[in-house]
Amino acid sequence: MSSGEFDLRTRIGLEAFAPEVTCSRAKCDTTATRRIEWRNPRIHSEDRIKIWLSCDEHLDFLLGFLKSRGFPVRLHAVADPVNEEPIV
Ligand SMILES: [Zn+2]
Repeated sequence: MSSGEFDLRTRIGLEAFAPEVTCSRAKCDTTATRRIEWRNPRIHSEDRIKIWLSCDEHLDFLLGFLKSRGFPVRLHAVADPVNEEPIV
C-alpha cells in the first residue's frame, strides 16, 4: 500500500533526512513533516525499524493503518536524528 517505505538500516550513516522528502502515502507527493518508525512483530525482529514519512494530511491515516494492526509505532519529526533504539 506504500511505495515510499524503506528500512532504517539503509539510512544509517546519514546525519539527517533530506528536506525534500515526500509522504509515503501512495500517490501523495506532499513534503513529509513526520517520520513514522514502526515494526511488524510477526516478521521483524526487535532491532528492525521500518520507516514511513508522512505529510500532515496523511499522518492519521498512516498511524491508523499501523495501530489497527497492533504494530509498535514511534513518531518523530522528519528532521529528528535517527533513533536506533528498538521500538517497543
Ligand atoms: Zn501525504
